[in-house]
Amino acid sequence: MTLSISSAFDGGNIRVVAIKGDVADLEIVKDHQSDFYQWFYFRLTGAAGRALKLRITNCGGAAYPDGWPGYQACVSTDREDWTRAESTYADGVLTISLTPASDSVWVAYFAPYTMERHYDLVASVAAVPGVEYRSLCQTLDGRELDYFRLPGGRLQVWLYARQHPGETMAEWWMEGALERLLDEADPVVRRLREKATFHIVPNMNPDGSFRGHLRTNAAGVNLNREWHAPSAERSPEVLAVLGEMDRTGVDFAMDVHGDEAIAANFLAGFEGIPSWKEGQQAIFDAFSEALVRATPDFQTEKGYEIPAAGKANLSMSTAQLAERFGAVSMTLEMPFKDNADLPDPVYGWSTDRCRLLARACLDGLHAVLPQLETYRK
Ligand code: ZN
Repeated sequence: MTLSISSAFDGGNIRVVAIKGDVADLEIVKDHQSDFYQWFYFRLTGAAGRALKLRITNCGGAAYPDGWPGYQACVSTDREDWTRAESTYADGVLTISLTPASDSVWVAYFAPYTMERHYDLVASVAAVPGVEYRSLCQTLDGRELDYFRLPGGRLQVWLYARQHPGETMAEWWMEGALERLLDEADPVVRRLREKATFHIVPNMNPDGSFRGHLRTNAAGVNLNREWHAPSAERSPEVLAVLGEMDRTGVDFAMDVHGDEAIAANFLAGFEGIPSWKEGQQAIFDAFSEALVRATPDFQTEKGYEIPAAGKANLSMSTAQLAERFGAVSMTLEMPFKDNADLPDPVYGWSTDRCRLLARACLDGLHAVLPQLETYRK
């Protein structure tokens, strides 16, 4: 059989430059109307048992070149079990060495979370008694923006993910969060739902997800730079979600992402907002400490630089929600690579670990619930 490479499917992204024998030269395609690129997802057929070299030649110009050193590509034959393939980065080229076990394999930047899987998730959650489903708007490409409300107590908790569509780990996290939140036997969940109403947007950027984008929507807009002034033309997804947040209020919020470069899970907070309050910060810190205790996959040593007083970027959701609602809000970053403090050479950072981290985050929220209740009286 002849080696063939394609990406014309849900979430796919690659351009074939040349195939010579067992070596393929490939390029990642830029997000539509944008210069961002880093997400790749392609299918490889007709190469069982051949020692392939897949060279992605435009990695040097990608959005986060620091993402490539130490990175191993994800490979699967069934699109459920994603293991890592030996990958090296030099001179702007990522070379993936792979001997496919079958004549049909899939290669991706991280385990994909396709729109088809998203629709299956939405269907299964919407069918649970007591869950309220709503579409908050239609996107620029005409997709529904799916939203769930899990009615409960007075506190308003918002969980939303995948503003950056190539950060698929964020929706694997959501799957774990929803699985746990819908388990009526779980005592932590029973307490959480007694005290809080949950608002969940599992995928903020369905158009970018389907198009195989890294960071932007159908108009090439980075949704996490729109929260100060969203518009129907550029960012209807943010406009709709923020509109709903204005109706419900927000006490606690998590915006779920992935980070290309840092091999760790970490939080970014709202330091530097004009209305920053000590009590608000104390709950963020307590949540962070509770999460350290809950799982060795979370840490507080590695992360982003903390902005100075007054220097927060209010176009980002975390800062905007903390400023606008006085909420305890945060950005959760998971690695594309692995947690370097507890590495898994076979899977790296994996879909299972995303799900487990989500469960731990709910333990963290449970731990700070009394403090949050008092603070938001
Ligand atoms: Zn992100």
